[in-house]
Amino acid sequence: MTFEELRKANAERHVEWARGNVLPLSFRGLELAGEAGEACNELKKLERARLGMAGGKEDISNLREELADILICVDLIAMDLDIDLAEVLRHKFNKTSEKYGLSTRL
Ligand SMILES: [Mg+2]
Repeated sequence: MTFEELRKANAERHVEWARGNVLPLSFRGLELAGEAGEACNELKKLERARLGMAGGKEDISNLREELADILICVDLIAMDLDIDLAEVLRHKFNKTSEKYGLSTRL
């Protein structure tokens, strides 16, 4: 799957899901924060399991899905602002490598 495929599917599903509403960036931010919170909750449960605490679990299937939700939400924000996610990801990855003197580049 490519970023372009995700963007196309997000654009199509947005029309279906929003039902004509114009969603503000604040809504997109809440979506992203919600999904990040869900991912963190799954991380908490993994840590509980690692520490032998009650309420822990070692199954990462929910975490996998929450990470996917985060990427979907990030793309929705980028879609609304007409940001080329692949281009900016490459730029920022390389900028960080340069900043810290690391050789890995995208
Ligand atoms: Mg979720």
